Amino acid sequence: MSIQIEGIHKSFGKTRVLHDINLDLPSGQLVGLLGPSGSGKTTLLRIIAGLEQANGGRIHFNGTEVTDLHARDRQVGFVFQHYALFRHMTVFDNIAFGLSIRPKRERPSTNDIKQRVGSLLEMIQLSHLADRFPAQLSGGQRQRVALARALAVEPRVLLLDEPFGALDAQVRKELRRWLRRLHDELHFTSIFVTHDQEEALDVSDQVVVMSQGRVEQIGSPDDIWQQPASRFVLEFLGEVN
Ligand code: ADP
Repeated sequence: MSIQIEGIHKSFGKTRVLHDINLDLPSGQLVGLLGPSGSGKTTLLRIIAGLEQANGGRIHFNGTEVTDLHARDRQVGFVFQHYALFRHMTVFDNIAFGLSIRPKRERPSTNDIKQRVGSLLEMIQLSHLADRFPAQLSGGQRQRVALARALAVEPRVLLLDEPFGALDAQVRKELRRWLRRLHDELHFTSIFVTHDQEEALDVSDQVVVMSQGRVEQIGSPDDIWQQPASRFVLEFLGEVN
């Protein structure tokens, strides 16, 4: 699913937090939305998700306008840092949740649900933990389950907001490899927000660098690294978290 963003702007009260954002993201890419805290990344992601309305501009998925569509009609999946798993449900039931709450005529059969959840569990290599509860998993395992849960409903677009932010560096590194692997196997388009340069440059096909509500640069990790478009990008890349 390609994503076109045209002239999006957004203010909260009198403060403008997004200025005329234009992006054309080809289908199937893993896009890192990178910038310091307060640069507008989450707001842009929420507008793409349909969780927040822009004050102007348009969004198209594969050429079809979705600007006024409600989040549930955009077929997007989410993984948020604090969007916890359901504590009282097993790993299996957490992943199956989005399928099992569908209206009856759209709901896959119990067998189909078993199969789909089973193959996702295999992909994230947690089949042996299907009957555990979230409290019995490590933080990294929990976020793998969160990824599988978001993907179970076959979203056209996966949006991730600092998905691994709460975890330590080693686990984060491992999780971004998981994200890359799932992305390559299942062929969806995803945008993930991060303030961590290394994270964005390590796994993205394209990086969008934001500063103060504007896009500073968009390009492959190599482009960004080798030819920073502005002093801001150069200095931001040089910062260590
Ligand atoms: P980032 O994700 O890059 O940290 P955000 O999109 O969260 O940036 O925030 C951009 C700016 O918008 C910040 O100055 C933030 O304080 C402000 N902001 C975000 N959400 C709201 C809101 N619901 N009400 C008022 N201001 C907000």
